[in-house]
Amino acid sequence: MPLNIVNSYLELGAAFSQTSLPSPVVAPELLLWNKPLAHSLGIDFSVNKDSDLLAQYFSGNRLFEKSQPIAQAYSGHQFGHFNPQLGDGRAHLLGDVKDENGQSFDIQLKGSGTSHFSRSGDGRCALGPALREFIMSEAMFALGVPTTRCLSVVATGQAVYRERALPGAVVTRVAASHIRVGTFQFFAARRDIDSLQKLTRYSIKRHFPEITLTSAALESDKLTADNVVDFFQAVLNKQVKLIVSWLRVGFIHGVMNTDNTAISGETIDYGPCAMMNHYHSDTVFSSIDRNARYAFGNQSSIMQWNMARLADCLLPLVDEDEDIALAKIEPLLRQFANDLQYYYYAMMANKLGIDEFSEGDVELVNELLKFMQDKKMDYTQTFVTLASNLSQSNVDEVLGNAKNITDEWQQWLTRWYSRIATDVSGAKALMEKSNPLVIPRNHHVEAILASTQATGDLTALHEFLTVLQQPYQDVDNTYLYQDAPRDGDVGYNTFC
Ligand code: AMP
Ligand code: MG
Ligand code: MG
Repeated sequence: MPLNIVNSYLELGAAFSQTSLPSPVVAPELLLWNKPLAHSLGIDFSVNKDSDLLAQYFSGNRLFEKSQPIAQAYSGHQFGHFNPQLGDGRAHLLGDVKDENGQSFDIQLKGSGTSHFSRSGDGRCALGPALREFIMSEAMFALGVPTTRCLSVVATGQAVYRERALPGAVVTRVAASHIRVGTFQFFAARRDIDSLQKLTRYSIKRHFPEITLTSAALESDKLTADNVVDFFQAVLNKQVKLIVSWLRVGFIHGVMNTDNTAISGETIDYGPCAMMNHYHSDTVFSSIDRNARYAFGNQSSIMQWNMARLADCLLPLVDEDEDIALAKIEPLLRQFANDLQYYYYAMMANKLGIDEFSEGDVELVNELLKFMQDKKMDYTQTFVTLASNLSQSNVDEVLGNAKNITDEWQQWLTRWYSRIATDVSGAKALMEKSNPLVIPRNHHVEAILASTQATGDLTALHEFLTVLQQPYQDVDNTYLYQDAPRDGDVGYNTFC
């Protein structure tokens, strides 16, 4: 199979990963294949003709010619507690390939067997979570959220034992890289400054080639303080985009541990994630998040915490004197907090059709959110309804009758209408770009996973994926997946 795979992460050296081969599976069967993604990576096969071969490669039974699989080492703060030794316990990095634009992407198998880092885990993945990751990440991609993607799901023909026996699968994940905050923590915890330098250089080269390294930095393994500061700033910028995108579409990651925060700013680890239905900043669905650490409305401050942990790791690269290093890094973290706030409100203003965000819009947004929270209004539907009712005549009429209104909602509408009255059609167009008609709602995802697994028939899943691929357009079956759950997802639980 022709795939121009290189092993750039392996070349960083033994401290970074362990060579590890996927464990073969008994009866690999290709269930899902992401044709457009495959095409963009130059993996061109006919799914019908090559299905068996693809199943062999993307289960780990066969290896690409130049691939040298590894399990990557990393640490991580899990729910605030540091674990110095995590790493790929059930994943194998096959290597990286360049897409049509020359950007490198990791090809990683997940559920492909144990490694040096498996601890007590079995190295495997159940079919349900594999299909779920495919649906969620493709939906997020189409929503315009930075994310890792899924190339394939291959059933293994083997059982995976959780509370009960479940069918197993291997999912192939494509990511800008799998470097996490936890990867930096792995070396910082071991006071391995050389490896931290190497990792930072690799990360710059791979993700932020616009950062110019001085010739001294290029020749030695040592980056300048400016390089490191620029790197940190670039990572922060990516995280602002990430968090603001999540908050725009109502995504709750569910397990924002530092090992699940990619420095590329892509959404990674679709374990216990879920979508918010009626708006409430405290929304949590993850069964393991008992203290609501990763609730919808906490995601911005958690990302600040995670970035502070990355900063801890970078300090020794900035300056040997911690005070000097801190003086360079802390202002970036403060600005990060401001940026998150500013771009959040700018994004929310966009959701209301306001292009040029100004101070007064903060109140307009906050009042709407409070109203939505009190009245349990659906986050997605509220904005869709506001946009669909928006017309010049409607605005003129409401503003014309605006005197003496007492109804709270009418008052808010009047203020909003007066804000966008100068360009109603422009506002409507902006809202239609900013507010999805359809999101991967929890009850639909679960119903489709259940029926797919019960019948083995993938038709409904493909129909769902087709709609999710055009979330801003009213296509044939959009209406089938727009409904909010009648019970607001009460009792809904997600798992890692
Ligand atoms: P996660 O909660 O998905 O971020 O995973 C945390 C850690 O547990 C990572 O080091 C994973 O590789 C490891 N892990 C999760 N599930 C398994 C499994 N079934 N077998 C081995 N390791 C696992
Ligand atoms: Mg993880
Ligand atoms: Mg996980």
